[in-house]
Amino acid sequence: MDGSNGRLHVVAVGAHIHDAEVMAGHLVALYTSAGHSGTFVHATPGEKGSQALSADEYRSVKLGEARRTAGRLGADVRFLPYADAELPLDHPTRLHVAALFRELRPDIVLTHWRGSFHPDHWRTHCLVMDGLQMAADASVDVPGTPHRTRWVFFPENWEDMTGFQPEMLVDISAVYDRWHAAMMEQGLFRGEVSRFHYRKYYEGLSAVRGARAWTERAVALMRSPFCSDRQSQLPDWRMPAPARDPGREGGSK
Ligand SMILES: [Zn+2]
Repeated sequence: MDGSNGRLHVVAVGAHIHDAEVMAGHLVALYTSAGHSGTFVHATPGEKGSQALSADEYRSVKLGEARRTAGRLGADVRFLPYADAELPLDHPTRLHVAALFRELRPDIVLTHWRGSFHPDHWRTHCLVMDGLQMAADASVDVPGTPHRTRWVFFPENWEDMTGFQPEMLVDISAVYDRWHAAMMEQGLFRGEVSRFHYRKYYEGLSAVRGARAWTERAVALMRSPFCSDRQSQLPDWRMPAPARDPGREGGSK
């Protein structure tokens, strides 16, 4: 929490454009809809995923999709300078991620569960977990003031299911339509790029998890032991609005 107005910052980190939004975009929208801040961070564009377009061509398509999706979900978007299928898992990259966390100062981080068959996904998990530790450690020499992130969760992703155990179900019914419309900005979700049925999978998954949560739509999460606040392990997913800024009364939409 930034301390000045009760506003929280939720940061979703994905390996490829589309990962963070498809697994966590609804969770980000829960926050941004209530006046909190959201940011999507993409470790790589996922620019090698098209059969029809070159990596250069598809990269520019993906960057546009990411910006439009984030805009529809009321969030910012950041791109790390790495290439699809070449995400480094080395010290300079950890330092880069740590500096980013000191800059963004998230309250909640959402990212890949480690049990993934995709190397970029488990590398992203490792970079995020190491980056969070390093961002919090004052002895680590990276730019910015040390920052400890309060909550870290791993939302369900079809590529990250090895050892995934749903520990929490979060009701996303209120923002499902907004999330779905945002995802339709992306060719992968529309079924135009991959033979995997992303849209059907995540539509069905949210309905299945929703049934288990006794609601319409839900998402399953695992919880990270990194969460530092033992007295209050869970954020309030019902999202009470932050203190209202009188200067903006009635100005939101
Ligand atoms: Zn991916």
